[in-house]
Amino acid sequence: HNPILAGLPVTVFERMSALARETGAINLGQGFPDDPGPLAVRKKAAEAVLEGSNQYPPMLGLAELRRAIVEHYARWQGVSLDAEREVMVTSGATEAIAASLFGLIEPGDEVVLFQPIYDAYLPLVRRAGGVPRFVTLRPPDWRLDEAAIRAALSPRTKAVLFNNPLNPTGTVFSREDLETLARALADSDAVLIADEVWEHVTFDGGAHVSALGVEGLADRAVKIGSAGKIFSMTGWKVGFVCAPPDILSTLARAHQFLTFTTPPNLQSAVAFGLAQEDEWIMDMRARLEAKRDRFSAGLTAVGFAPLPSAGTYFVNVDLSALGVADDAAFCERLVREAGVASIPVSTFYAEDAVTTVARFCFAKEDATLDEAVRRLEALR
Ligand code: GLN
Repeated sequence: HNPILAGLPVTVFERMSALARETGAINLGQGFPDDPGPLAVRKKAAEAVLEGSNQYPPMLGLAELRRAIVEHYARWQGVSLDAEREVMVTSGATEAIAASLFGLIEPGDEVVLFQPIYDAYLPLVRRAGGVPRFVTLRPPDWRLDEAAIRAALSPRTKAVLFNNPLNPTGTVFSREDLETLARALADSDAVLIADEVWEHVTFDGGAHVSALGVEGLADRAVKIGSAGKIFSMTGWKVGFVCAPPDILSTLARAHQFLTFTTPPNLQSAVAFGLAQEDEWIMDMRARLEAKRDRFSAGLTAVGFAPLPSAGTYFVNVDLSALGVADDAAFCERLVREAGVASIPVSTFYAEDAVTTVARFCFAKEDATLDEAVRRLEALR
């Protein structure tokens, strides 16, 4: 037993994907699409490797990509950012979160986290020396409560880490929700680390409201985005941060020593993609929305109770409707006996866990989803 690893558990995604490989199960655990991503963007990346520079790009990211990010948020959120001083490219959103925490947190500083908590947050907060404080969200609505947020804040709160749309629940928080958050934070100096990687993976015509566009949040927000999610290529690990200049320069200090840069060919391909992405985004949403509906209907037809999903790659199932009280045991049985991997939502809680919800990734071929439903039916 190595005490140094105590704060660094094996991620549930690695564990479940390994189990899926071992047992030959359909992997609806770890969230990634089996879509190859837009061909023109992939071609651009290939060309850039053959024709472009493959040396270290600028530490803050290629100028063309930072400009494309600024134009993107001018179009989608109506905000104006300074490409030179308010944008930084990172090697995935996870690096952006690590750079935010390592840059901002001194040992003993408090960080507010919303349960269910995306799996990387808590280990990173702890390794940064932060003290986590939890706000707990509950099914079926997972909504924010101003009093609960206020109760988690203290004069030592350095940051609030907020994921919208929320993985694992598929909740898209509205402008009213963000205003609730702004009201709760009104008397606090905390930085809002806004992980918005799912911003474009939203359904039913619902538009994502960024913290960048909300009064009381924008001037304290570290907004994190992900090209991997925008273009359905999660392996690219091209993320970015938008933040006020003083905060951004602090994050950049941490970024220098984490990864320093991100592959230049992927950066120029993302810059190219962002300049003409609107059609791709609409198309991705339509395809994923159809998959969400197909999978949810399939689940319902075989007796499962899917919860609403307004965004992300995930549909959650309410296991309490089946009389199941232990999601971890259920998901274990599901992968071993039915051959379908999923993620127990209780693993996203540090305390006071909800133990009756399982998360399924529906960003898969229709035939894969249909086969998964058949296997689930056989188990019941
Ligand atoms: N974001 C992915 C998910 O939620 C997992 C990424 C990872 O495996 N680290 O499933």
